[in-house]
Amino acid sequence: MTLRRRLVVAISTLLVVVALAFAGVALVQRSYLVSQVDERLRVLSANTKALVAVSTRAEAGTGAAADLLTDVYVGIHKLNGTLNTVLAPDAEPGLVPVLLGNERDAGPVTRATTGGSGERVRLVEAPLAQRTVVVALSMGGVEAASRRLVIALALAWLAVAAITLLVSYWVDRLGLRPIARLTAAAEHVTATGGRDPVLVETDHPATEAGRLGAAFNAMVTTTSAGQEQLRRFVADASHELRTPLTTLRGYSSLYAQGGLVGEDQVADAMRRINAEAGRMGRIVDDLLDLTALSDGAALDLRPLELGEVLEDLAADLRVREPGRRVTVQRSGATGVLADSDRLRQALTALVANAVKYSDDGTPVTLSAEQRGPVVRVLVADRGRGIPPQELPRVFDRFYRVRDTGERGSGLGLAIVAAIVTAHRGRYGVDSVPGQGSTFWIELPGRPARP
Ligand code: ADP
Repeated sequence: MTLRRRLVVAISTLLVVVALAFAGVALVQRSYLVSQVDERLRVLSANTKALVAVSTRAEAGTGAAADLLTDVYVGIHKLNGTLNTVLAPDAEPGLVPVLLGNERDAGPVTRATTGGSGERVRLVEAPLAQRTVVVALSMGGVEAASRRLVIALALAWLAVAAITLLVSYWVDRLGLRPIARLTAAAEHVTATGGRDPVLVETDHPATEAGRLGAAFNAMVTTTSAGQEQLRRFVADASHELRTPLTTLRGYSSLYAQGGLVGEDQVADAMRRINAEAGRMGRIVDDLLDLTALSDGAALDLRPLELGEVLEDLAADLRVREPGRRVTVQRSGATGVLADSDRLRQALTALVANAVKYSDDGTPVTLSAEQRGPVVRVLVADRGRGIPPQELPRVFDRFYRVRDTGERGSGLGLAIVAAIVTAHRGRYGVDSVPGQGSTFWIELPGRPARP
């Protein structure tokens, strides 16, 4: 059963139970009031002789008797069947109760009167010598009190019903309806396989349903962004691998058709095939690296002096590029906890780019400096720089700045980003086209040994 249906059933049951309880209260109260009237009747009819005497005096309006018996009817039932009124109530002088017939011994009974007012009375008969005395008390007071109680209880029931309906309207509007919308949205997202990531409205973000909706929206947005990223990644990776593959296929079919004549041409084709296969191999290695890093591959964290790593890289670079001025600057404590192989891989990629995207002979500067709790490493070149609009994307997978003329895979900086992120560090680049670029990474510093 849905929550909404349960709510309707619960509210209906509650209202019925309250109505029954109120009806019970009204009945109990009425029978209590009637029993009090009966008790007075019993007292009055206990001694009929005295009652008739007092009634006669009361009818004559004498003293205390008249004050005591203002609402009492007393009549004598003669042998010939007529009923002689001895005393009639002040409020209803014409009141004549009908006779009891064969209910004589059944105790007090309720009867309508024949007085024209249609008033109901409670009456009893008691013997007096050979006759009977009829004593009756008006039910007007009982009925008025009962009516007032019923009206009060009905108003109370209406108030309970109104409050309950109001509360259930709130519950429905703030809780059930948003959940129904959320369910529909979730079913839609599932049915469309996540291709149509609908979001739900969250009108009341402070409520539980509102927070659930916000969490759902965040989840759908993240999932669809992730799917889009994956789709783009697969497309980019296929595209990158297709280029060398096409070259390989081209050479092999050229060879099969006898298009390669002479040893020189075959050797040249082999050299190109080898280069393209190597390129494919590097792309696949880079992809595996990226996957391992994004899967949270365990890092082998050990104390590492970044200043020393930079000195090593500078020494290697000086050997490879003797014409370049390679400077290392160190300031403060540059110790970090890092995976030495991974961090060297990242810094090597940055240094390789500095060389690749700058002219021979231009200087390269490597610096490591302590900045409060972090160590910042900079790799600066005086190369071509990067246009400002390209800067936000250079760390994306397969992203290459157009017209650089170089054939990289576009994965180098993505791997740098993944390695730095795995070390809980930050990275970035400042660049001025035509003047050079400075790539930087920041890692949490290692607390100095006491
Ligand atoms: P690639 O394999 O193309 O070098 P990267 O991810 O290492 O891929 O770099 C992405 C792009 O960023 C490069 O294509 C290049 O255009 C630009 N880039 C990277 N480093 C530098 C640099 N030091 N100077 C100028 N441009 C750079």
